[in-house]
Amino acid sequence: MIKIEPIKAFNDNYIWLMSTNEGLVVVDPGDAKPVLSYLEKIGKNLSHILITHHHFDHTGGAEELSKKYGVEVYGPTSSIYKGITKELKEEDVINVIGIDFSVIEIPGHTLDHIAYYSENDDNPILFCGDTLFAGGCGRVFEGTYEQMYQSLLKLKKLPLNTQIYCGHEYTQSNLAFALKVEKENIPLHKRFDLCVQSRKNNKPTIPSLLEVELETNPFLRSDKKSVQECIMQKFNLNETYNDIEIFTATRKWKDDS
Ligand SMILES: [Zn+2]
Repeated sequence: MIKIEPIKAFNDNYIWLMSTNEGLVVVDPGDAKPVLSYLEKIGKNLSHILITHHHFDHTGGAEELSKKYGVEVYGPTSSIYKGITKELKEEDVINVIGIDFSVIEIPGHTLDHIAYYSENDDNPILFCGDTLFAGGCGRVFEGTYEQMYQSLLKLKKLPLNTQIYCGHEYTQSNLAFALKVEKENIPLHKRFDLCVQSRKNNKPTIPSLLEVELETNPFLRSDKKSVQECIMQKFNLNETYNDIEIFTATRKWKDDS
């Protein structure tokens, strides 16, 4: 039995804590303090640390935690972050606390970004850091827009019932932007209303389901007519546009809004 729960950090980060009867893992511990106090409260030790990318709000607590518990820090190869003790690359498979995770390289937000994917007996799990968000995607800081597009394309091919654990609670503002792109998307309106309700009750909107993302996340819908028509009009693209141009224009619009 796998249990996954969020530990809140900073303003809107989620550090994911995953446990089985074989141990306990944290994903992207940007801050050690909330993790330490939680582990002390439940009286458990840490088994491993998983890192998706080098940003400080995902790695800042890793060193302190790894020293205290004497555990490995898994993360992307060739990272700017120097605290990784087990470097991972595309198609590597790791077994932590009894669960197999395969590594998917998803550069764009940063060049070193990876995701951890587990089939988990037909209840698939994805930890994807700041690449795919509920209702949105990460900003393109280090890679190219095309890289980010290709990375999202990889994630789009995962099973529809994949549970998506991303690094931030950005869902409401993401969905508000999505509604600008697709005013007539009925599932999107429903999702926005549910999200507002959850946030009012201070509940996380994560994990989300890939199937829901495919229906409502404009950054996974550059191939859809409704998204293309909106972006084409707004940015005066000519008829020869392709999906990458649509994605790029959508991402830049979100950056400026
Ligand atoms: Zn980041």
